[in-house]
Amino acid sequence: MAQVTELALDERTLAADRIDHWIGGRAVPASSGRSGPVYNPATGRVAREVGFASTDDVDAAVRAAREALPAWRATSLARRTEILFRMRNAIESHRDELARVVSAEHGKVESDAWGEVSRGLENLEFACGIQHLLKGGFSEQASTGIDVYQIRQPLGVVAGITPFNFPAMVPLWMLSNAIACGNTFVLKPSEKDPSASMLMAHLFQEAGLPEGVFNVVQGDRVAVDRILEHPDIAAVSFVGSTPIARYVYEHATAAGKRCQALAGAKNHMVVLPDADIDMAADAAVSAGYGSAGERCMAIATVVAVGDIADPLIEAIQARIPGVRVGPGSDPSSQMGPLITREHRDRVAGYLDSARTQGATVVADGRQHELYRSDGFFLGVSLIDNVTTSMDCYRDEIFGPVLTVVRVPTYADAVRLINENPWGNGTAIFTRDGGAARQFQFDVTVGMVGINVPIPVPVGYYSFGGWKSSLFGDLHMYGPEGVQFYTRAKVVTSRWPDPGSSKVDLGFPRTR
Ligand code: NAD
Repeated sequence: MAQVTELALDERTLAADRIDHWIGGRAVPASSGRSGPVYNPATGRVAREVGFASTDDVDAAVRAAREALPAWRATSLARRTEILFRMRNAIESHRDELARVVSAEHGKVESDAWGEVSRGLENLEFACGIQHLLKGGFSEQASTGIDVYQIRQPLGVVAGITPFNFPAMVPLWMLSNAIACGNTFVLKPSEKDPSASMLMAHLFQEAGLPEGVFNVVQGDRVAVDRILEHPDIAAVSFVGSTPIARYVYEHATAAGKRCQALAGAKNHMVVLPDADIDMAADAAVSAGYGSAGERCMAIATVVAVGDIADPLIEAIQARIPGVRVGPGSDPSSQMGPLITREHRDRVAGYLDSARTQGATVVADGRQHELYRSDGFFLGVSLIDNVTTSMDCYRDEIFGPVLTVVRVPTYADAVRLINENPWGNGTAIFTRDGGAARQFQFDVTVGMVGINVPIPVPVGYYSFGGWKSSLFGDLHMYGPEGVQFYTRAKVVTSRWPDPGSSKVDLGFPRTR
């Protein structure tokens, strides 16, 4: 196993002027001549360039993955598990470095990035139990002298296309199970924060993962389109915005690939009149503004039921001045900048449209002093008296803007959520166990929190929304991830005495 070099990997990564691909166990420059800027969102300056893949680059990565496939597929479960353990340990022992790289390019505060890496580790830990997860069923004597059993086999070369908001965790959601199940993997990370994927590629190689099992192609739509049409890619996992998820799902499935495409969100947090107001306000502020609202499980809308609305909004408002906005590298910061200036300005635009459309802007993040800096900062914003026809309710804002919809009853709250086109996550805050249980029964959303504002399932369950938050049948990671990355084969077997053999043209039936 190669040793970690003297110069810390994050120092090497963050000092690089250019990020390229990882193909067949080494860094490979992009051949297209095209590239894009990678910003430091806290300063607004371009930190490095990322080379964009041509179709030839994607083909080279797929070739490397295809060449690595026979040996990796044939590698024993014992040996695969040993390598997965080492991959898990490599990420854990470089968790700080990986978090620094994530924070530097995404902008989230380092402690949050550390949390992201920790949640991603859960997926590698789950995959370390792959021997158990791949055990098929066995039916002895299904018919007289006949046994039937099921095995699960890898799909082949599989690809993952990931968003900017979790540059370490979402790739780990996919690659952990994919590789553990015996597939080889091509990752196309977000072009906005590409370095985490390269750091992980280095770490996996040092952990002993054979060349070509994990490959990275950097890039944009050109790379995505080639992945979607490539005849040697068996399956595509995607996480990103709803329009692109729909596009990926339609094109991947039209090309005969298995596809799961996790999409956008508008997560509602219902606060019932009996809830603890301070606890609900703490949760709304944490889940609405954490990671600058750039989480698919962020709370976007507080649904205040009945007469709790006024005291709840007062409690949220009282907490806003205490949210420390600043660069992710400053340990005192609680919320960093947004990913790009363009996105920051788009988010801020919802404050104007909300006002014009009749809502009450209680806090306007543009008043924060860092809004006028070169970084992509926006302070936290709170909009009250929002209705379902307003842009700030209808669109996924994906920024530190909390909207409040007031409804008279529990039934109105559930109707609001169930009529929303998205169904990723939702939460209810109440002290009434019966009401919470009814909510869990009623709501048409894939992940539900009861007094938990960001209910991201632990690694041994699976992650996925309903409605326009997911295209495909299977959720990501956990047991459904194993199902996604394998296909079942059922074997019917008998070992009769050849003397008993005879011709029988009837349809075989059990006896
Ligand atoms: P995005 O859709 O812009 O990008 C996702 C991926 O698609 C990236 O790799 C990007 O390079 C690629 N892409 C972008 N435009 C493309 C195009 N025109 N054609 C082909 N490929 C294209 O998403 P984002 O801005 O990186 O991430 C934020 C979005 O992701 C939000 O909508 C958020 O809700 C969603 N998200 C969802 C989940 C979930 O689990 N449901 C998790 C994280 C993020």
